[in-house]
Amino acid sequence: MNTTQQQVAIVTGASRGIGATLAQRLAADGYAVIVNYAGSAAEAAKVVAAIEAAGGQAAAVQADVADSAAVRGLFDAAIERFGRVDVLVNNAGIMPPALPHVADTDDATFDRLVAVNLKGTFNALREAAQRLQQGGRIVNFSTSVVGLALPGYAVYAATKSAVETMTNILAKELRGKQITVNAVAPGPTATDLFLNGKSDEQVERLAKMAPLERLGEPDDIAETVAFLVRPGGWVNGQTLRANGGIV
Ligand code: NDP
Repeated sequence: MNTTQQQVAIVTGASRGIGATLAQRLAADGYAVIVNYAGSAAEAAKVVAAIEAAGGQAAAVQADVADSAAVRGLFDAAIERFGRVDVLVNNAGIMPPALPHVADTDDATFDRLVAVNLKGTFNALREAAQRLQQGGRIVNFSTSVVGLALPGYAVYAATKSAVETMTNILAKELRGKQITVNAVAPGPTATDLFLNGKSDEQVERLAKMAPLERLGEPDDIAETVAFLVRPGGWVNGQTLRANGGIV
């Protein structure tokens, strides 16, 4: 149990990629961190070990965000372990390595994208809306692909457009609690999600699309989230595009 009133952050999908870096960044900023994962238990344990080795506090909690009961359990575990929840980062997300055009998208692909990216985000938002401390912070994850409108990304981008809309509306619903709700929309960022299934040439071409002519690194996105969760912020209900200028 947290006896020092240390602030507590839940990062969904924190076993790998952006979430793993972000969990370590928030721990370095003084939060006790719940490192959520779906399948990568060993990777989540490594993130917790790195945080503890640096003097921070963390715990790994398995929950598929698409499962509302599991997400309720995730918040229960955070409160049981650390006593409160101040920050939710809804980072967990999926994007299939092969992105079919609408005409070729099967039901299973559509349903899983919606289940994880949209319902998963909603599941955690509902818990946060009920259980976050006054003055809490919520950051959702969209994508710059929403603005790029690239063929093949229709369903993935649609789930993230919906996340941007929920972000804006939830910010208004939480009036009176001093809770901000924002989203970050990364551009192409060097993680498994972006790199898997692409040739070096494709990666190079997509990286060069941004005026800064490089891929994002997980640290670039963690820095943006750290800005959005800091106390006293005035940014609320917005989507912040951290993307090297790609859109
Ligand atoms: P990665 O694929 O590298 O990592 C995804 C993380 O999410 C893993 O820790 C994974 O955990 C977790 N996860 C996946 N499904 C679930 C689930 N059902 N329940 C709980 N956790 C889950 O992705 P990124 O780090 O690149 O992506 C993070 C976020 O950023 C996503 O929302 C993505 O859409 C968004 N984004 C990424 C971009 C990029 O270029 N990388 C660009 C724009 C947006 P486990 O391994 O345990 O399953």
